[in-house]
Amino acid sequence: YRAKLMELKDKNTATKDGKHVELGANIGTPNDLKGVLNNGAEGIGLYRTEFLYMDRTSLPTEEEQFEAYKTVLEGMEGKPVVIRTLDIGGDKEIPYLNLPKEMNPFLGYRALRICLDKTDIFKTQLRALLRASVYGNLKIMYPMVSGITEVRQANAIMDEVRKNLEAEGIAYSKDFEVGIMIEIPTAALTSDILAKEVDFFSIGTNDLIQYSTAVDRMNQNIAHLYTPYHPGVLRMIKMVIENGHKEGIWTGMCGEAAGELPLIPLLLGLGLDEFSMSATSILPARELISTLTKEKAQEIVEKAMSLATAEEVEEYLKSVIA
Ligand code: PEP
Ligand code: MG
Repeated sequence: YRAKLMELKDKNTATKDGKHVELGANIGTPNDLKGVLNNGAEGIGLYRTEFLYMDRTSLPTEEEQFEAYKTVLEGMEGKPVVIRTLDIGGDKEIPYLNLPKEMNPFLGYRALRICLDKTDIFKTQLRALLRASVYGNLKIMYPMVSGITEVRQANAIMDEVRKNLEAEGIAYSKDFEVGIMIEIPTAALTSDILAKEVDFFSIGTNDLIQYSTAVDRMNQNIAHLYTPYHPGVLRMIKMVIENGHKEGIWTGMCGEAAGELPLIPLLLGLGLDEFSMSATSILPARELISTLTKEKAQEIVEKAMSLATAEEVEEYLKSVIA
């Protein structure tokens, strides 16, 4: 099996009947690149930049960030690299920002909400990203979007950063994509509206499950309720992919669910274009996809979407790949 997997390392991902999807890797630092390349990733679907800001005593400078982004873009040699803007808060704290303690940090002052308020932090990151954009195939992604207003606000700040760079004569690539994570239920439910103003979606199931089922993703006492197989979660995923495709944008997934083998045939059948996962999951996922056909995946969708409980869905999807 291992030898068979290694054979797939430098291959593109495709079903038996030739439908191509992209398998990317999730990373936290440029040091993760080696594992990404060794496991045959077709790109990076999520670079979590918050690690640049953690375990230190002050904000990373524009230069430090620029170096990190450049390293990743160059290392991927023109393959797509989705870099997510700062997503702190929730479980990821940054002591030197002295943010107030909150009752519900996962529902609080975090991620894009901080960036739209403390715009200096956001502008510094966007400048570093834009400057790095000339070194590869950059896609910028905003986390924790709840609706179109935040996207417009973030893009307005991005435009300001572009204008400043132009005024200073600093080069940046003019055609990078800007997309959003779909990880808040209102974003999923308004994905028809959002799709008109962004270049791509990436579904963040880790948070989407938490927010849609009202189950804290860190709470062990209710961990049995935290499941990607919930029919309500699956319906949202289906809706997001359909709305993305109606507007002609690609839709990926970078939550843990994207690398969960039993879910992959279903996601494929729903039309997911890109799957981003931990590097070690890539080759097993590529192998599984190579055994499927479009028709089979659609059959699986029909059956799975007709089931009433998460338990039934999970049992059925596991039986399919057994
Ligand atoms: C997610 O929410 O699914 C996600 C990929 O982001 P994070 O796990 O960093 O919150
Ligand atoms: Mg998230």
